[in-house]
Amino acid sequence: MDPGGAPNYAQERERMVAEQLERRGVHDPAVLAAMRRVPRERFVLPAYLPQAYADSALAIDCGQTISQPYMVARMTELLELTPDSRVLEIGTGSGYQAAILACIAKEVYTIEWYLKLMLQAAQRLEELGFTNVTFRCADGSLGWSEKAPFDGIIVTAGAPQVPRKLCQQLAVGGKLVVPVGGPLDQTLMRVIRTESGFEEEEYFGCRFVKLRGEEGWRQ
Ligand code: SAH
Repeated sequence: MDPGGAPNYAQERERMVAEQLERRGVHDPAVLAAMRRVPRERFVLPAYLPQAYADSALAIDCGQTISQPYMVARMTELLELTPDSRVLEIGTGSGYQAAILACIAKEVYTIEWYLKLMLQAAQRLEELGFTNVTFRCADGSLGWSEKAPFDGIIVTAGAPQVPRKLCQQLAVGGKLVVPVGGPLDQTLMRVIRTESGFEEEEYFGCRFVKLRGEEGWRQ
């Protein structure tokens, strides 16, 4: 906030990138450029505008959340996207993560459980001029087989185990980034499809809302 009270979002965004991302070891230039470009204030509820660049997740409609900026950046970095990548996101939510992906990859496909959230996100991304994002309202735990294979798949909700249907929709060399664990705490995992199978890597502890659906939490 400046002394006059009007928030300077561009300045807050630069500070977020420097203090929350670069200082904590996010170095991928494409990810940092995307985080510098997408106006997070357009994705939060009006009540949370003063916290648009806070170092935390924030509540959105339907009891869901927009993820912490650092988590968005780290998960995107783990996907190792290129300008030719086709990427699938499970859990559109506010659409913020989809916008970050859309700055880097060629095509983004994103699936949301709640129609209300999907429609809001689609409108935001259209207003911001993104033309490479395709939306769907469905159970994303099953992936999007008609559009597979994907170079990257990112799940922005916590799964009880690695969703096998998503692994099968990876291209060889493709990467799945997914929080796996209990309903309250998970471990961020990355699964890489190789010529002969799948390699699993564990990263750090995290806390996401539940992944619903057939390969998620049933209740
Ligand atoms: N990526 C979002 C974070 C959303 S929180 C953002 O940047 O704002 C997780 C989202 O996953 C919620 O919106 C929730 O409704 C959605 N979700 C949960 N289970 C799902 C499923 N099986 N298929 C699609 N979306 C799901």
